[in-house]
Amino acid sequence: MTNYLLIMENDVLKARQRGLTRKDEFITFLAMNILIIAGGISLIILICFFFLFALYSLLEKEKRAFWRSSVVVLLLIIISLIFFLVEPPLKNWLFAIALIVLLLDLVILLFSPLKRKSTEIVGKQKKIDERDVIFARFEYKEGTATYKEYYTRKPECKKIDDEIRRIPDILSPPHLKKHPHLFSLASAEFGFLEHQLTQVSGRESREKSQLSPSESTRIIKEIIKYLGSDLCGISSLDQAYVYSHVGRGPEHYGEEIKLEHTYAITFALEMDLGMVATAPKEPVIVETGKKYIEAARISIIVADFIRRLGYPARAHIAGSNYQAMLPPLAWLAGLGELGRLGILITSKYGPRARLGLITTDIPLIEDKPKKLGIQNFCQKCYKCARNCPAQAIPYEKKVEVNGVLKWALNREECYKFWRRAGTDCAVCIYVCPYSKSDNAFHGFIRKVMENSAVAQSFSVWADDFFYGRVPLRRKSPLG
Ligand code: SF4
Ligand code: SF4
Repeated sequence: MTNYLLIMENDVLKARQRGLTRKDEFITFLAMNILIIAGGISLIILICFFFLFALYSLLEKEKRAFWRSSVVVLLLIIISLIFFLVEPPLKNWLFAIALIVLLLDLVILLFSPLKRKSTEIVGKQKKIDERDVIFARFEYKEGTATYKEYYTRKPECKKIDDEIRRIPDILSPPHLKKHPHLFSLASAEFGFLEHQLTQVSGRESREKSQLSPSESTRIIKEIIKYLGSDLCGISSLDQAYVYSHVGRGPEHYGEEIKLEHTYAITFALEMDLGMVATAPKEPVIVETGKKYIEAARISIIVADFIRRLGYPARAHIAGSNYQAMLPPLAWLAGLGELGRLGILITSKYGPRARLGLITTDIPLIEDKPKKLGIQNFCQKCYKCARNCPAQAIPYEKKVEVNGVLKWALNREECYKFWRRAGTDCAVCIYVCPYSKSDNAFHGFIRKVMENSAVAQSFSVWADDFFYGRVPLRRKSPLG
């Protein structure tokens, strides 16, 4: 060993005096060259990684990430040149260090497996009454029968709700003045949705098509993908996630909801990153409206398709038509996990997605909830909580809410901010590290984060370093 070290330090003569043979000498020189090549490859891998990062950032118009990753590339190139230009034995030592650093990184990443924790059901879950949902509460206008009925039963909500009512409503005239075109467009989108409400259900054909569960599952998933969503899953329709009573739409207020279908088909639609990156400005609500329309189109067509096969099916669409809660059903179907920000973080688009739902009795094969390591990441990352303008997202640990361990969002504070902004805010959606573009680079990072605890801790830091603790907002792609 001493002889090898002497050769590495270019002291061959001394090594020979100590009895180094020609064969040993050859092996040692070979080992040293391999070391230089391996060290060089390590540096090239690092340079390529950050070069790709810079390239993707440029394509994604992430200015800060582009400049910072470019500086890292430059530094790595300078370091590599220095390594190549210095004379042995320093050259050998430097390449050995480069190799050790890369190997250590790999060992740490591979041998720090993540003990994935996901949503835990810890108690009995009761059905939620849609009348208590925040959007329903603000449909009850002062002086109406629904207002009187609701606040007689729920006097504890009256003070905060009346306080919020004094702030102009989302898309109401005071906000319209800020950006008439975009707010009018969003109003038109939500108006369009209201016209779809009559399409959500109907009678099934008398003749039942004889499809096996695997055939109908394959066909329905293919159709949903063809119609525009490539993130789709199936779960049983857990009655805990069916609302108990109608809260939205005055004509059916208070009616008991009976939805006894066997299955829930949930799917997700990616929201445009450029539009979400303007949060909480007007383009966000335009994009929300657009995705709700797409989700309504898909669920109405698929529900109709299933009815034509002879099985009952109902589409659930935004704009006072849901009979069940989408995020927990999407979690059951393996679409993602519930995050700190209070909504579903999907495996492909993070929280930058809108969900759709069809319930049915056609025989299907269920998917399973997935453990994606997202909740582990949320335990270390507070980016949404830090950036929330209403400070409605908790910094604390998960708590039990209706039998489920989760982060409890302050819905009133969140909604109050929506009314102040005149939009559905979405700041938390934009800043979430999982909302990055769905491409090969971020897909790779997500995969590594899914498997390594150290990678998660590093990514929390890296996201702040490259994208900023308060990520930059972008200009609206729409005029
Ligand atoms: S910003 Fe961080 S803490 Fe918040 S939901 Fe996303 S990953 Fe979780
Ligand atoms: S939507 Fe806005 S106000 Fe609501 S939790 Fe997210 S960041 Fe906070």
